[in-house]
Amino acid sequence: MLGKFNIEPLTEQILELACKDPISPEDALYLLNVTGNDYHALLMTADFLRQELVGNNVTFIKNWNINFTNICTGNCGFCAFRTDANNSQAYFLKVPDIIQRAQKAAKSGATEICIQGGLHPDIDVYFYESILKEVKDKVEGVHIHAFSPMEIYHASHKSYLSIEETLKILKEAGLDSMPGTAAEILNDEVRNIICPEKLNTQEWREVIETAHQLKIPTTATMMYGHIENKGHWIEHLEILRSIQKRTGGFTEFVPLTFMHHKAPIYQQGMALPGTTGTQDLKLYAVARLMLHHYLKNIQVSWVKLGLKFSQACLMTGANDMGGTLGEENISKSAGASYGERIEADELIRIIRDLDRVPAERDTLYRHVNPI
Ligand code: SF4
Repeated sequence: MLGKFNIEPLTEQILELACKDPISPEDALYLLNVTGNDYHALLMTADFLRQELVGNNVTFIKNWNINFTNICTGNCGFCAFRTDANNSQAYFLKVPDIIQRAQKAAKSGATEICIQGGLHPDIDVYFYESILKEVKDKVEGVHIHAFSPMEIYHASHKSYLSIEETLKILKEAGLDSMPGTAAEILNDEVRNIICPEKLNTQEWREVIETAHQLKIPTTATMMYGHIENKGHWIEHLEILRSIQKRTGGFTEFVPLTFMHHKAPIYQQGMALPGTTGTQDLKLYAVARLMLHHYLKNIQVSWVKLGLKFSQACLMTGANDMGGTLGEENISKSAGASYGERIEADELIRIIRDLDRVPAERDTLYRHVNPI
């Protein structure tokens, strides 16, 4: 079929195979560099495979972010959210304030509360534990999706506990799932430049794999478009795929395009101003072909991409619109200009315009209800 498009024989061969099996890292890298008709064939194949694997539903979740502090001892070069404790913009929500926001979220219909914050120097695992216990106690029926692998690592060090001990305490207190953030690019040469004090690749894997072993599902993310190259994208996807083959603990893959405007590494001339739209589309398509049936859900981050470009990504491999984001601070701090909150009706309009089926889901992709 693809021969009609007059594409390179090697591209045709890889894309035909991709409809049956996940592609190799070498083939994935080749596809990231195709142009012209080969590029169109790649995008169409990813869309075909998406339809085969997950059908025509485009899911979304009603969720709410609570970023409880922007005070952080970290120094990630891409972060415009963090600040020092003595900065006039610094804030640190106490547990009752967090509960109040969680109650407001639940009242507005949110089924997931996502709680993350900076690495505050005074908090340890018992602070995180108290948040979880209080939310579970005082806010009925919400799923708590909380704490990045870096926060787990921070909590374990501050409390002199292992990663496993830390996660067990948090699960017991009500942690339902975790964001797979802090992954950035899983290559230590890149990490040493963009986030030298953050946990390294092996440490990120340890937190994630331990969470999965303890039956705490996580998302998988990749922040791209700064100093890395395409080989790093493939290395990153291959790490995610290998973890997923063993644990099955990832719920979705979320590519996060680099927000450059306020990022220190961009302002210092060290990083690119993000990717182009063509590169984004190729990444979505190649991720679909690599992750295949191992990890079926690929999410667009509308807050970073905008709703119009999110539609394009939904036609090249993605099947999830993410959340309504009742409150969002991190992308906004980094210069994202697509708002901080969206009504479900607007997501539904975007999805229906693609002739796809909008469906509300929960964090674990259960209760997928076509609307
Ligand atoms: S990305 Fe997270 S850990 Fe890094 S500086 Fe920002 S808030 Fe701190």
